Amino acid sequence: MHVFGLTGGIASGKSTVTRMLRELGAEVLDADVLAREVVEPGTPGLADVAARFPGVVGPDGRLDRVKLGARVFSDAHERAALNAIIHPRVREAFLEKVQALEARGVARVIYDVPLLIEAGMHEWMEGVAVVWVPRDVQKARLMSRDGLDAAAAEARLAAQLPLDSKRQHATWVIDNSGELASTRAQVESVWRAMLARG
Ligand code: ATP
Repeated sequence: MHVFGLTGGIASGKSTVTRMLRELGAEVLDADVLAREVVEPGTPGLADVAARFPGVVGPDGRLDRVKLGARVFSDAHERAALNAIIHPRVREAFLEKVQALEARGVARVIYDVPLLIEAGMHEWMEGVAVVWVPRDVQKARLMSRDGLDAAAAEARLAAQLPLDSKRQHATWVIDNSGELASTRAQVESVWRAMLARG
């Protein structure tokens, strides 16, 4: 299996690019989706989270993300404890999905991970596509999509590794600052490059 990484920054257009890749027939696995699946009601992952963070499972048996977020947001130790529960399970879920794809004869998969580079995971990818926009475009799209004022948008951008740093680790940079047609043309070229490998 050829595994490629896909990443970007908040509101840089990763979902847009993922949609285009899927239209081209690419298999894209989303780390955020896997991270939610491993704590669905009834999973051992949720049981472990509930044991370590009492009170974060609601009466409906579902994880209360707001409560959990409040416990880990500003506490690195608690966040590390949560990650120690979640990350190995996400890795396992990823490998299971890859095996299922392999069994169907799929030869390449794109792993969409918001924190791919921060987590050092780009090291074990065959190639990495970074969805990049200039910071002012990123800020404007973030404000308009999420209804944020400039200060709130700045705070979110400041909490992330800048896209200008992420692009230094890119095998392919997808510049999403122009028209969607321009992005689509770049996505097609990246997908062709991925098809050419292996
Ligand atoms: P996040 O990771 O924060 O969820 P994302 O990287 O997946 O964001 P998108 O949701 O794809 O980003 O795009 C962010 C916003 O910018 C959306 O409102 C989207 O409609 C808009 N957008 C994306 N690409 C373009 C483009 N090329 N031109 C104009 N608007 C765009």
